[in-house]
Amino acid sequence: MTRPLVRTKLPGPRSAAILQRAHRWLPEALQVTFPTVIERAEGALVYDVDGNRFIDLAGGIGCLAVGHAHPKVVRAIQEQAEHFTHTDYTVIPYEVYVSLAERLARTVPGPSPKKVALFNSGAEAVENAVKIARASLGRPALVAFEGGFHGRTYMAMTLTSKVDPYKRHFGPFVPEVYRVPFPYVYRSPFPTPEETTAYCLRRLEELFTLQVEPERVAAVVVEPVQGEGGFIVPPPEFLPRLREVCDRYGILLIVDEVQTGFGRTGRMWAVEHFGVEPDLLVAAKSIAAGLPLSAVIGRAEIMDRVHPSGIGGTYVGNPLACAAALAVLDVFEEERLVERAARIGECLTRAFLEIQRRSPYVGDVRGLGAMVAMEFVASRDTKEPAPHLVTRVLRRAMEGGVLLLRAGIYGNVIRVLTPLVITDAQLLEAVEVIERAVAEAHHPLPEEAS
Ligand code: PMP
Repeated sequence: MTRPLVRTKLPGPRSAAILQRAHRWLPEALQVTFPTVIERAEGALVYDVDGNRFIDLAGGIGCLAVGHAHPKVVRAIQEQAEHFTHTDYTVIPYEVYVSLAERLARTVPGPSPKKVALFNSGAEAVENAVKIARASLGRPALVAFEGGFHGRTYMAMTLTSKVDPYKRHFGPFVPEVYRVPFPYVYRSPFPTPEETTAYCLRRLEELFTLQVEPERVAAVVVEPVQGEGGFIVPPPEFLPRLREVCDRYGILLIVDEVQTGFGRTGRMWAVEHFGVEPDLLVAAKSIAAGLPLSAVIGRAEIMDRVHPSGIGGTYVGNPLACAAALAVLDVFEEERLVERAARIGECLTRAFLEIQRRSPYVGDVRGLGAMVAMEFVASRDTKEPAPHLVTRVLRRAMEGGVLLLRAGIYGNVIRVLTPLVITDAQLLEAVEVIERAVAEAHHPLPEEAS
């Protein structure tokens, strides 16, 4: 018999007062996932202004692989701030940008020499990867996948494939983006992963017959594991075969590793699992421990084809963010965080499979490395998505001291994006809270009663 959860009433009075002010001054669209206000954080722990402590498995949506306020990162930012905080690299260059480019380029697999351009956000890096691909080939069209997420700016939002909340009311979208299915094995009408992959690739070939000639396609944009889409891991042969299709038609492969990168999957980059060399790789999130920074790391030959000053931006590659990113790379090496991600993944997968064994509502447990998720269904037979069960689990986990995130095209997936510095004891404590929250999933929340 699982113990009931110890509950903390949220928000506490101080958080409530601040959220009240937010309600007055911030647009309603800025909806808050955790109704509590942070005071400070350290490693995988967050403390709110009311004195509550949480284990943070959301990790700033996967930006905090090295954890909150890592002393090395904090020191690097402080030291950089004392020297200078901004010039715009293309006005007055600085060494941290160059050092970071050097180190990032060496992390990406494949024999081709690489070059690196820095930006501010994941979406901005996606936009620039598309600009670079189009400029280098002189072709306009793009192919993206159902269930993909690439950001909220216009091109990134167009590439994104989920109407609510990302696209509703925001059209018209950018032309020349075509879409094909991604191998979502759990919901595939085909009996095996191999047939699911074959179907998706057949649809891509059909696209070239029915919609757009491949000679007009600049790039295929793909997440190696779909993140917001629900931690959808494609079968092992999918990315290598996609690479083959791209090579056959001279199309570039843009791999969006914004969520999967920086050790999250138990390798520095998720493409390493699949033995694929991307033409352009997009990185952000954990790159600079939450400071706004992103990168396009690509084959030098392609990166160099853009005309002078064709890419850039006032804040791109901000020196504070670069200094933080260099410290992040040091921490990754010193604390062996990539290996740690693999261990975290094993522990979580084991725990989630055990939870699935006991709950009829957990339809699927899946992931790669520390990217682990549970998909909730009303019944394992019908696989009807059950987002309301996720709402209950998230709320109860939060009240029990664990912060978790939702994902999935139906909003019925719970995903973990924990700091990789989480201790074993914190991880076990979090798993116990999740287990109890899932055990109570059939009980409605108080507000569901009315
Ligand atoms: N691509 C992927 C795969 C992402 O997961 C995200 C963010 N969740 C983005 C792009 C957009 O990044 P940002 O929010 O920094 O613009």
